[in-house]
Amino acid sequence: RAKSEGRGTYRLFEPHFERERLERRRTEVELAAALDRGELNLVFQPQVDVESERIVGFEALVRWDHPTRGRILPGAFIPVAEGSRLINRLDAYVLRSACEQAKELPGVTISVNMSPLNLRHAGMVDNIIATLRQTDFDPRRLEIEITESAILDASAEGQDALARLRGLGVRLALDDFGTGHASLVHVRRFPITKIKIDKSFILNLGVQRDAASIVEYVVRLGRSLGITLTAEGVETREQLRFLRAFGAHQAQGYLFSPPLPLQAAAALLKRQAEAESQRVQRGSGELP
Ligand code: C2E
Ligand code: MG
Ligand code: MG
Ligand code: MG
Repeated sequence: RAKSEGRGTYRLFEPHFERERLERRRTEVELAAALDRGELNLVFQPQVDVESERIVGFEALVRWDHPTRGRILPGAFIPVAEGSRLINRLDAYVLRSACEQAKELPGVTISVNMSPLNLRHAGMVDNIIATLRQTDFDPRRLEIEITESAILDASAEGQDALARLRGLGVRLALDDFGTGHASLVHVRRFPITKIKIDKSFILNLGVQRDAASIVEYVVRLGRSLGITLTAEGVETREQLRFLRAFGAHQAQGYLFSPPLPLQAAAALLKRQAEAESQRVQRGSGELP
């Protein structure tokens, strides 16, 4: 069969390609089983207000705790899941877990990543609505993160889906902004409430002059459109200073915290609430 399709196709039958294909297939089968067995777990990374450094939300990130291979990061299995219909199940599972677990994280927004492929899935919005109802989760506390390709590829149905979600009060964040081809013109055509500037730009703040100009420009234009600006991958105080100077609203990154297990995230939030109530008490004690 390879021969009849011409020379170019011989490559497809080279042993390394075959091995890769089998490896993907193996991961796919194992991932399906992992979903059934509950081996997928969430970690939560704080998102902070740039001015006060208060936690205002958490992003839920998926981890695969494999019985023999150990903890696997999403980069190693999300692409595989996206190559099959598993991504729909995976994202639905993450959303449900996040809504259930977020009861331990009161008063803040919970962000969940959604593969662009899910936007083309007709039942997506109905699934989200059902999950919100069943878990008794306030839609206004939920933020769905989609990437640029999701809005660039969005069909009329996809566009309707986003509008329906927004209509429920769900927030919509544009993830990894700057890595694809979306412009702020696209952003305006969709009910986007937040832009997350990709970490590759943040990494170069104070290193490359271009990075600072780009970040400053995106922040300024985004602000003028009434959109919340978040920086991801903030690792240093210097990067934070740039973001403050430019007027970005929120930041997320190792400077504040790595992604944490639920209980650690809840403890962090509790400490913040306690520190604030003490400050309020001290403050009111000084009043006449
Ligand atoms: P993302 O949504 O852009 O998530 C941010 C990634 O940056 C996370 O990697 C996070 O651990 C990492 N990160 C956080 N702070 C820093 C920092 O200061 N410096 C650096 N260098 N990195 C930082 P992670 O958890 O490996 O996730 C990778 C990607 O996998 C995510 O990128 C997201 O696109 C995807 N993903 C994660 N969970 C899900 C999910 O439940 N569903 C879907 N569809 N995709 C997911
Ligand atoms: Mg994200
Ligand atoms: Mg991101
Ligand atoms: Mg990213």
